[in-house]
Amino acid sequence: MSLSYFSELRDDNNKIALVESDQAFSYAQLNHRANCIATGLLAGSSDLAEERIAFFLPASMDYVATMHGVWRAGGIAVPLNVASAVTELEHYLGSASVTRLIAGPEHRESLVDLCAQLKIELLDVTDVLNGDIVQLPAIAPGRRAMILFTSGTTSKPKGVVSTHKTIQAQISTLVKAWAWSSDDVIPLFLPLHHVHGIINILSCALAAGASVHLYQSFDMPRITRQVAAGTFTVFMAVPTIYVKLIQYFETLDAAALAGICSGFGAMRLNVSGSAACPESLFYRWKELTGQVLLERYGMTEIGMALSNPYNGERRAGHVGQPLPGVEVKLFDEHKVAITDEGSPGEIRVKGDSVFLEYWNNPRATQESFVDGWFATGDVAVLDNGYYRIMGRSSIDIIKSGGYKLSALEIEAVLLTHEAIAEAAVLGVPDDTWGESVLAVVALKEGASLAYDDLKHWCAGKMSSYKIPKAIKIVDSLPRNAMGKVTKSALRAPA
Ligand code: ATP
Ligand code: MG
Repeated sequence: MSLSYFSELRDDNNKIALVESDQAFSYAQLNHRANCIATGLLAGSSDLAEERIAFFLPASMDYVATMHGVWRAGGIAVPLNVASAVTELEHYLGSASVTRLIAGPEHRESLVDLCAQLKIELLDVTDVLNGDIVQLPAIAPGRRAMILFTSGTTSKPKGVVSTHKTIQAQISTLVKAWAWSSDDVIPLFLPLHHVHGIINILSCALAAGASVHLYQSFDMPRITRQVAAGTFTVFMAVPTIYVKLIQYFETLDAAALAGICSGFGAMRLNVSGSAACPESLFYRWKELTGQVLLERYGMTEIGMALSNPYNGERRAGHVGQPLPGVEVKLFDEHKVAITDEGSPGEIRVKGDSVFLEYWNNPRATQESFVDGWFATGDVAVLDNGYYRIMGRSSIDIIKSGGYKLSALEIEAVLLTHEAIAEAAVLGVPDDTWGESVLAVVALKEGASLAYDDLKHWCAGKMSSYKIPKAIKIVDSLPRNAMGKVTKSALRAPA
């Protein structure tokens, strides 16, 4: 199997693959560097035989070249995020049984003790560069390629093992479904150690021969300047980024606003995912930029599974239909497949894009598969042919007085209230109802909100049993690196 992962690579290909700060790197340069790193890592051996090699580098040419270098040498890539705290790193490095860690000189000192403790060899990229490129091993598609950690929204991040085959399937499905081409240019500001950044953006772009502009974080002024200048053709982000953009728009004068909005409007695609896109956000984005957001659903274990169409109607509050090559079914509590519309069930997924296993955790792997289907733990409903996500069964489905309520649905309504900036809905233990609905909200600047007024406001907008029984006002909601609300952190004081 050819292991380039890059579109039609030739060594004389001067097409720009990556832009890092103001420096551009061609596909030929990236390819060469990946081969030098592969050779350096091999250090005379013929195959890394699934050795776990982690990299703790900023979003850069070296990050991308290291990932491909590890793959080409037959290793398992363990991408890390430089924003991670040492305690998180200990979990990632320890649980993935990493043997070598590649880090930039700026981070070496903070890693020396941890690496000594875990018996990990700490290296610089320059330590693993060898220009006398050797014959690289042939890699069978079924071999393990990467361990990505889940976002840790519900519990400690789990190490998800992908093979070359599952990664290729995730990439090729999206490249086709979202019409990637070598004319595309995309900004990448999301963390590179989660599927959204590393597969949907980086790997799809490289597989299509497109160009990726790398940022260390969401640099609003710089990125929006480039948007206004027409640099990008595609934009992919989590809902909180779109919310931040809209807030930023309010601070701009009319000319600046018009430039940025028409820049977004002129792109061929704006995608939202990783968490629910509230309907109010979908409509506001359309109003401001003219773009109809494409919302999709996926997870670390399966890549992307459901997507609104690239050509065709994109529906607010919905995540569309199964992507080509991905089988999706909803199952009820008795493991029976749901065939009718309107009945909620757990999303289960089959297909080449589904991961191999949780690293070093056969029990968790076994428990997550039912009759060959991966059980996602997310609940959805089929609504006029399009799937709608109700939330995670463990935290977003509230069992109250015989009803099963979707926290996501209530949150979406609360977000249309003029005083509410952020909303998270939780089920809290209740002697009468089993669980009752608590809304934790952050208010817009200068706004105030009394419970009775909110209750009254909700009355015309949702069934009475969905109306929050209490509200708690906070300054802001706790979120992880992907902008997802960590409800467990809210639950404790609630
Ligand atoms: P952990 O598994 O560690 O608790 P996590 O599930 O957030 O963290 P990821 O694999 O990054 O880790 O995220 C996948 C989850 O994100 C899905 O299971 C789903 O709950 C949520 N998600 C992704 N896209 C959407 C979407 N469009 N709407 C609603 N939820 C989404
Ligand atoms: Mg998960």
